[in-house]
Amino acid sequence: NVKQHDRNGYRFFSARMKEALEADLFLERELQRALQNDEFELYYQPQVDLQLGCVSGLEALLRWKHPQRGLIAPDTFISVAERSGLIIPLGQLVLRKACRSYQILDLLGLGHLRIAINLSALQFRDPLFPRTFQQIMTEHQVNPAQIELELTESMLMTNIEEAIMILDQLKQLGATLAIDDFGTGYSSLSYLKRLPVDIIKVDRAFVKDIPDNENDMEITAAVIAMAHKLKRKVVAEGVETLMQEQFLRDNDCDYLQGYRYSPPLPESELTSQIARIDLELGNSSGNGRCIQ
Ligand code: C2E
Ligand code: MG
Ligand code: MG
Ligand code: MG
Repeated sequence: NVKQHDRNGYRFFSARMKEALEADLFLERELQRALQNDEFELYYQPQVDLQLGCVSGLEALLRWKHPQRGLIAPDTFISVAERSGLIIPLGQLVLRKACRSYQILDLLGLGHLRIAINLSALQFRDPLFPRTFQQIMTEHQVNPAQIELELTESMLMTNIEEAIMILDQLKQLGATLAIDDFGTGYSSLSYLKRLPVDIIKVDRAFVKDIPDNENDMEITAAVIAMAHKLKRKVVAEGVETLMQEQFLRDNDCDYLQGYRYSPPLPESELTSQIARIDLELGNSSGNGRCIQ
């Protein structure tokens, strides 16, 4: 009997929905508590400059150090933080923590490194964001150019005119701008020339099957060539193998990021791991040469 089935299906669905809502609410309260309890920490993944043979930047990646559950990756809580609006204070915390890490690196002679930060859609569209960004930079006396703001393609493509205005504002404040996960959204390369961004990050999805997937190799090479024509730099994400590195080097990719060089690291491991990577990339001097 179809009706019976539908009714059961509906009841099942609403029970599942209720569960999901309750789980979200629980997580939201947990996130609020975690913010007050200072349980969030930034890990940093090195980005290497192939031409210089050195680490040239770091991507800040958020981790939740849960007292019972241990280290939690952002994919499990960022969406709830967005839906509840908690991403606004959390995003400010990320900016502050990144500035503090930059101050420490600067004192250690690593002030040439740029720190990339991921912005959420809500943060980016927050009319107060540019001013908050400027305030935090001034407070910490960090040159905004050393902070790279990563925005995803889909964030920029919803209401592109407004997005361009915000990007212009941030650019005027001196920030470095990057498009994250490039190629996974629905923007066309032709939009790129209208967006005042400095860097394009080719998504891991295109890198992971190099050299087995011819299409991915064609796309990656084309994105790099097009970005260079528009005077943008390119980062490849998720580089894991020597073959991938070689392909990206042959195609003039500017920066590489991935497990091949390092996973995201706690701040305390940065100096030793950066020295290790520089050495492996052939910069045996260990200092000097890598400062741009
Ligand atoms: P994303 O910005 O695209 O970051 C890259 C993700 O790929 C990171 O996952 C990183 O750990 C992972 N990854 C790096 N190299 C490799 C590799 O060689 N192989 C593989 N398989 N994975 C690699 P993570 O740290 O779990 O972050 C996931 C996403 O969460 C990020 O994707 C970003 O969109 C978001 N996120 C992270 N931190 C923040 C934050 O502070 N604020 C906001 N709004 N979003 C954040
Ligand atoms: Mg990112
Ligand atoms: Mg990315
Ligand atoms: Mg990605």
